[in-house]
Amino acid sequence: MKKHEFQTEVSDLLNLMIHSLYSNKEIFLRELISNSSDALDKLNYLYLTDEKYKTLNYTPRIDIKLDKTNKTLIIEDNGIGMDEDELVLNLGTIARSGTKGFLSQISKDAKKDSNLIGQFGVGFYSAFMVADKIEVLSKKALSDEANLWISDAKSFSVEKSSKQSNGTSIKLYLKDDEFLNEFTIQNIIKKYSNHIPYPIFMDKEEYVSSKDDNKTPKTEIKNTQINNASALWQMQKSSLKDSDYNEFYKQISHDSTDPLMHIHTKAEGKIEYTTLFYIPSIQPFDLYRADYQSGVKLYVKRVFITDDEKELLPTFLRFVRGIIDIEDLPLNVSREILQENRVMASVKDASVKKILSELEKILKNDREKYIKFYKLFGKVLKEGLYGFNAHKDEILNLVLFKTSKREDFITLKEYKDGMKKDQKEIYYISGKSYEALKNSPILEILKDKDIEVLICDDDIDAIILPMIFEYDKTPIKPASEAEFSEEKIDQKEYENVILKLKEILKNDVKDVRVTSRLKESIACLVYDKNDPNFETQQILKQMGQENLPEILPILEINPNHKIATKLLNNEENLDDLAKIILNIAKIQEGLEVKNPNEFAKILTNLITQLA
Ligand code: ADP
Ligand code: MG
Repeated sequence: MKKHEFQTEVSDLLNLMIHSLYSNKEIFLRELISNSSDALDKLNYLYLTDEKYKTLNYTPRIDIKLDKTNKTLIIEDNGIGMDEDELVLNLGTIARSGTKGFLSQISKDAKKDSNLIGQFGVGFYSAFMVADKIEVLSKKALSDEANLWISDAKSFSVEKSSKQSNGTSIKLYLKDDEFLNEFTIQNIIKKYSNHIPYPIFMDKEEYVSSKDDNKTPKTEIKNTQINNASALWQMQKSSLKDSDYNEFYKQISHDSTDPLMHIHTKAEGKIEYTTLFYIPSIQPFDLYRADYQSGVKLYVKRVFITDDEKELLPTFLRFVRGIIDIEDLPLNVSREILQENRVMASVKDASVKKILSELEKILKNDREKYIKFYKLFGKVLKEGLYGFNAHKDEILNLVLFKTSKREDFITLKEYKDGMKKDQKEIYYISGKSYEALKNSPILEILKDKDIEVLICDDDIDAIILPMIFEYDKTPIKPASEAEFSEEKIDQKEYENVILKLKEILKNDVKDVRVTSRLKESIACLVYDKNDPNFETQQILKQMGQENLPEILPILEINPNHKIATKLLNNEENLDDLAKIILNIAKIQEGLEVKNPNEFAKILTNLITQLA
């Protein structure tokens, strides 16, 4: 017998589980059955594709055994099983990202954390919510050796043992009697695991019909299948209720909240396949992580193939959970085949189209629901506008914007419908803070002309918007590039002072010029047409282009402002005045003042003079 310590994270997790009161302990059963189902999936695949496994007499099943005298509950499967090393690794450390995500979010607030357990499931370890001791007896398929893993949640040991057939048997020594009841167990299984594709059996008391009607009905113990065991996605849509779809979602997603929507498609054309997609109603914790786990499982003719293939859907749909089941693929598809396979490619393409068109329907018919979706996943969806993408047009119909005129989100179509008669372009402004953007001096002339501007404050907007170019034949341009011919102004009068300002501010701005776009503010900062703006530069740096030289903005001055006339007639204080104007423009854009001490001194002096 070898004694092992749990990895620190596991110990923490187990402590949390044992010492806090959880309302939905029952999910341990969903977790253990889902592990058994995975183990059966894995063996099923080998059995069908690998000659070596043909010797097995394989009829996949899960058995539940209750022992009321000894207060134990056993969950047993005849799946792939685990060898000694796997027992130590899989049940002693935390490998899977779901549990890692849970750990990254725990708050040590028992109530909040108990909700999280429901959301993430936390897999195998959740069994310690109901058991103070667990034994896992496992034998790997095609191996002669069995091992027994035993733990009291403090440490664990593994020893050689014996077991007749391959698979895993998990024995829980229950803390109390709550789950020692066939009826309770059956209900939990129906609730969470009704549609795993394998049968679950349990001994149950059943009435036996007797021929003699006068006798009291007799009961006998019968081993009965207690779940439906049909792949839900293969069932007729008409026979399924929302609650069926939702429960199935919870089984496959490690998420215990109902999804926002499901999309169930059976295609029977040239290529036969079934897809069942879900859009969650909460954000998966790893949505923005490079190592996010794909939520889509690939099946071929009902046989599980992989859930580790990120390319089943494009990354801008990585929030989608669900199943793709294809009829016309070989079972032993390798990753390489998957990537080049024509059938796979067209199922993928059709799936993307389907999901986007269903989203468009929601946008048309249920605005509130769509906005809920968009707040959760709009940023991810927008990634689809990056670079070249075959579905760009569909995505453009789905993106929403805040604007300078309206409080609510609007679509590009709605923007176009609200355009002024002589307006030829769509304008946007991008940056970090909604408030700063909305009040940016750059918008003054557009506000003056009553032209609406898209306010784009998502990080990704600064990168994406310059890549859109046009929507429905109307160019999309930054507000700073809006030109109004009738407002040309004479720069001559300012030639001299501008030369001086340029010299004073040469380390801060690329150029200084007079503008007609300002109505109230003294100045604003804009970027040259071909230069990346401040936000874009920040993002490029974050993306690894750290040595990018700083590209300076252009300072534009409002000639109709009182301060502008001061500029013309003020030789002495020009230095201070220039710095004040620059910093006002920066502050208005929500940008950092480079030398706050110097700026404070200049202002203090100025105010002292006034006082
Ligand atoms: P997850 O199922 O998300 O990977 P779990 O904590 O539920 O995380 O399980 C950890 C690992 O233990 C599984 O990935 C699997 O490798 C192994 N395991 C658990 N139960 C079984 C089982 N019944 N048969 C085979 N392997 C199992
Ligand atoms: Mg699991």
